[in-house]
Amino acid sequence: MTIQAKQLTILGATGSIGVSTLDVVSRHPEKYSVFALSANLNVEKMLEQCLQFKPRYAVMADNDAAEELENGLVGTVASDTQVLAGKNALSMIASHDEVDYVMAAIVGAAGLLPTLAAAESGKRVLLANKESLVMSGKIFMDAIRENAAELLPIDSEHNAIFQSMPHPQHSNNDKAGVEKILLTGSGGPFRTRDISTLQAVTPEEAVAHPNWSMGRKISVDSATMMNKGLEVIEACWLFDVADDKVQVVVHPQSTIHSMVSYNDGSVLAQLGRPDMRTPIAYSLAWPERIESGVEPLDFFEASRFDFEPPNFERFPCLRLAYEAHREGGYASIALNAANEVAVAAFLDHQIPFTDIPHMIEDVMADAASGTPFIVDDILIQDKASRVLAESWIKNKNN
Ligand code: NAD
Ligand code: MG
Repeated sequence: MTIQAKQLTILGATGSIGVSTLDVVSRHPEKYSVFALSANLNVEKMLEQCLQFKPRYAVMADNDAAEELENGLVGTVASDTQVLAGKNALSMIASHDEVDYVMAAIVGAAGLLPTLAAAESGKRVLLANKESLVMSGKIFMDAIRENAAELLPIDSEHNAIFQSMPHPQHSNNDKAGVEKILLTGSGGPFRTRDISTLQAVTPEEAVAHPNWSMGRKISVDSATMMNKGLEVIEACWLFDVADDKVQVVVHPQSTIHSMVSYNDGSVLAQLGRPDMRTPIAYSLAWPERIESGVEPLDFFEASRFDFEPPNFERFPCLRLAYEAHREGGYASIALNAANEVAVAAFLDHQIPFTDIPHMIEDVMADAASGTPFIVDDILIQDKASRVLAESWIKNKNN
């Protein structure tokens, strides 16, 4: 019996996670077939990916980019690829009947609707786009459950936690004995830098992550540790735990990708090289394992593991994320929206690094109280927080 290849849609194919996903997929052409790819505006990279993977659909963010891609495909091996543009097309390729798996790897709130569409149509959702879960929380988790979708975390920490959790097959209670989730984080490029000099750090310094190579937004998030804050919220939703069960552990080597501590004194961890192809391969093949192209860890090379508690004074964004989650859904949406605007403004040299948490705190203070029950209310809060964040920058610079 031949097993049919799983049909895969990649949202955000041209980014860091998208490229790593295609690298794993290219190693297993008999198992995975690329059904659709999407990108924002990077036509050149998308063209290259279409020529290699010949997807049924390629979706660009706007008509100009789509037209340019279409022209590039004429007369090539990928001339059958249908090029589409816009948000509805993204949701279409995420929910298409023939699709089995959806890699959600768009960065930021732009990924929310297509990622939700994948959950609502019962796909296996490979979730890299943590912002969409931070924004939608219960709505997203309910959509997964109600539509019998599968949710596999791609974030390396959450993938490690998933691997270290009790297996439902072996226990009646899927959280049997779990005491704490130990969420590790490297501490980013500014873990030991003199706090008084953080005011002056440049975008280039902030995106230079010591261990991981990633997109620019998540790299700045790692430098502020907002990334870890978003991951705390992500862990609470994914594993259905309260935030006081999620302990951040700073581990500069990024070799332990996270751990689960049990009531009998056991601590289970997942370790490996800092290469996203490991969690991607795991999530594609789960519950099996496939080769990912990642070399095994060499313990004689990685001979030291250091740990320290997180410093909330150095990293106020981490504190803000815990606060937002405790406050409710609207505060988390405001946190995320303000952070996206702040990071873009910092990368654009409009605000200093240390203004990022100040702006987020002010925008969060204005969020509605409670938690939204429908997607429209998420979008309304997201929009309002962005408007407020933009005017915060304007006022500051006037
Ligand atoms: P990236 O910037 O490298 O890539 C983002 C992708 O999204 C690109 O393909 C881009 O074309 C697309 N995109 C951007 N804005 C868009 C828009 N408005 N509409 C449609 N498409 C858009 O980012 P990345 O590092 O690959 O991260 C992607 C997601 O995965 C983020 O949510 C990030 O937090 C998460 N993540 C990344 C890593 C990593 O190692 N890179 C690790 C864990 C989690
Ligand atoms: Mg992570």
